[in-house]
Amino acid sequence: MNEHWAVIGAGMAGLAAARRLGAAGRSVTLFDKSRGLGGRMATRRAGGFRFDHGAQYFTTRGERFRELVTRLTGEGLVGRWGEDHVGLPGMSAPARALAPQATVVSECTVSSLTRGSHGWAVSAAEGPVATEGNGTFTGVIVAVPAPQAAPLLASAGCNWAGAARATYAPCWALMLGFQARTALTQDRLRPQDTAIAWIARDNSKPGRDASGDAIVVHATPGWSREHLEDTPEQAGAALHARFRALTGETAEQAFLAAHRWRYALVEQPLGEAFFWDPSARLGACGDWCIGPRVEAAFDSGDSLAAAILGPDPAR
Ligand code: FAD
Repeated sequence: MNEHWAVIGAGMAGLAAARRLGAAGRSVTLFDKSRGLGGRMATRRAGGFRFDHGAQYFTTRGERFRELVTRLTGEGLVGRWGEDHVGLPGMSAPARALAPQATVVSECTVSSLTRGSHGWAVSAAEGPVATEGNGTFTGVIVAVPAPQAAPLLASAGCNWAGAARATYAPCWALMLGFQARTALTQDRLRPQDTAIAWIARDNSKPGRDASGDAIVVHATPGWSREHLEDTPEQAGAALHARFRALTGETAEQAFLAAHRWRYALVEQPLGEAFFWDPSARLGACGDWCIGPRVEAAFDSGDSLAAAILGPDPAR
């Protein structure tokens, strides 16, 4: 068996694939360009506040994801926020528990994949990536947003054009920290507005410090597109002004930062759960295959790994 798989991207899709492969005894190395795991299930700790500036919560529709969420709840890594589920103490918290056995190579932006006689080699902008074994992999799973997956698959000599069919809306996220509670009357709000789509009091989530307020504001897709190339300072100031006008909140914030998600929410999914080329041993997965949800990313990665393993995972 002794298979060693490379998974590019440690968001929910890559973690779900790594989890299933690892459970079947395959070695897995996860590569991610960020410092932490979880991708858009992200938590930023800054200025004494904790913000989930990407995915706000997740829901469970299918049995496989529900089983995982029940397990993570039992481990204290997931809790309830109203009817919905959130990571404890932040959205990124469950990530490491999904693939504890995987080797993680973080802050590594994979730029190309090359197939040689001994398997796949992974290269980053800085050059070939040194890993255990002889530096080659049995197979590769590309688990990054579709626009980032397309050039990686092309570098691998793969002429599947499916990734180009999926599209995303961007999202600017504003994080506001207040030392005292604000006058906001609701913990989550979807205003009817052209600029702001969502306002959440993150400290109303379970396990958070509730002495001050940690507010996350998400811009609408239209506003985010229009301001896509703004600096974080420009987008942050404009969204903050809009937040004040909408809510009437006048308290001075202790912390303000904006983050741009260039690929935030899937608008047009592929419509197939994953891509898999068995002869090349090259696959791709992500929310873009199914839809704009954490569970869709899980389903995509988990189904791809199941297809790779086939009916006899112990083989
Ligand atoms: P990602 O989480 O994007 O993971 C991909 C990973 O690949 C990232 O960690 C990235 O760093 C890495 N990567 C990319 N390129 C490279 C490279 N070249 N080399 C190495 N690593 C690379 N979903 C919900 O269910 N509920 C919500 O409330 C919700 N709200 C959202 C709000 C916002 C603002 C955003 C941005 C998303 C939201 N989502 C929500 C969607 C949800 O976050 C995603 O569907 C899901 O997390 C996607 O997982 P993924 O693994 O497919 O991709």
